[in-house]
Amino acid sequence: MHDSHVHLTTQPLLDYRERALENFVKQGGKYLLSCANDLESSCKVLEIFENYKLKYQDLIQNSIGIHPETFHPDNQERNVLDKIAHLKEILENNKKNIHAIGETGLEYYNLLNRSDIDFDKREEAIENQKTSLREHIKLALEYNLPMTIHSRDEKDSDFCTKEIINIITTEGKVTLRGAMHSYVGEQKYLDQILELNLCIGFNGIITYKSGDNVRRLLEKTPMENILLETDAPFLPPQSVRSDKKRTIRFGQPADVIEVAKVIAEIKNIKIEKVFKITNENYERLFLN
Ligand SMILES: [Zn+2]
Repeated sequence: MHDSHVHLTTQPLLDYRERALENFVKQGGKYLLSCANDLESSCKVLEIFENYKLKYQDLIQNSIGIHPETFHPDNQERNVLDKIAHLKEILENNKKNIHAIGETGLEYYNLLNRSDIDFDKREEAIENQKTSLREHIKLALEYNLPMTIHSRDEKDSDFCTKEIINIITTEGKVTLRGAMHSYVGEQKYLDQILELNLCIGFNGIITYKSGDNVRRLLEKTPMENILLETDAPFLPPQSVRSDKKRTIRFGQPADVIEVAKVIAEIKNIKIEKVFKITNENYERLFLN
């Protein structure tokens, strides 16, 4: 099994990483994509990789990138191209240890509906996010790396999804490879995403009572396009969320087992088959 999107550099998982990696491997974990969300964590991801590469050979793959939230007006970060230049430097200096670009993407959540953010600031944030996504795609194509892409709209809106499909169609030049991680958007865009040859990463959301929409997306996604992920420490599965006695209330890579169980149920196949096919998908995408 694998976890195709995890943030080992984010607390509380950062402090808990030793045990989280041990749990994961003990329960059959084979690969995980350790994802950055800014320049600092891009360096940190590589540091963690160095620390564990002897203990767990071939377990950790690395993805470096800048999360769209970085350019939210609340964070007052602007210099997109400077940051991308710096990211490229990290990439160039660590080529052989970098397997993917991201996480990047668009996030209009908490941005379009916020009355305290004025029009110009909002437009600037959106333009910065789009520029950042386009530049990440250029890097992915230049270095022939897959991407892990984030998309989050305001509730009942689809601007991000539409824009991401639009940007990947024009900038991706057909050859771009990657995964839409934690896609929770509308059904009607699923076909377009799959036509772009992207995989979809399913996580703890499919174990939630409120996850009907995502379970329907899963039903319609062919097994060959499915990846397991956690987005840990975020989005812990239902068993972790609902168990009040637990001391660990955050996600960790071994939680993909609970995700795989739901996939096996919905696809009506054995869980071993879920692990086998999704591992092949992971290898094809991130280990090539
Ligand atoms: Zn993430």
